[in-house]
Amino acid sequence: MPDGKTHDTINAAVLLTVIFGLYYLIWKEIAIASVYLNTYMILAFSVSYLFATFFLSPDLDINSKPYKRWGFLRIIWWPYKVAFKHRGFSHHPIIGPLSIVLNLAIVVIALLLIGGVDLHKIPLSFIIAATTGMVLSMEVHIISDNIISKIKSIF
Ligand SMILES: [Zn+2]
Repeated sequence: MPDGKTHDTINAAVLLTVIFGLYYLIWKEIAIASVYLNTYMILAFSVSYLFATFFLSPDLDINSKPYKRWGFLRIIWWPYKVAFKHRGFSHHPIIGPLSIVLNLAIVVIALLLIGGVDLHKIPLSFIIAATTGMVLSMEVHIISDNIISKIKSIF
C-alpha cells in the first residue's frame, strides 16, 4: 500500500482535477452545475477534502501520520484505532468513510452545542459540500490502496 506521502500526492492531484472539472461545468453553464455550484460551495468542498486528506484518512486505524497530526487530540480516534483492525472496516468503501465522518460529527456537534452554537443556523449546502469533500478524500485513499496493492501483487 502507498505511504502517507504518496496518498497525499494522489489526493491532491485528484482534488485539482475535480476543481477544474467543477469550474468547467460552471463555465459551460451545464444546468445542474450552475444551480448548485458556486465558489463558496467549491471552497467548502476543497477545504474539507484537504482537511480529510491530512487528518481523516482511513489509516487512522494505525499510528499513521494523519493519526499523529491530531497531537493530544488523537484521543478522539483512539476508540476507532482499537475497534478497527488495519485495512478492515476502515477501508471498506462505505463503512470506512461513514464511521470516520460519524466519529468526527459526534465530537464536532458536542463542541458546537457546548459552545452554544445554534446548529440550525449552519446552511445545509455547507454541510453537504463539506461532507462530500471528506468522503471523496477517503474514497480516493481506499481506491489508491486497492489499485496499488493489486499492481504490487502482479510484480
Ligand atoms: Zn490505507
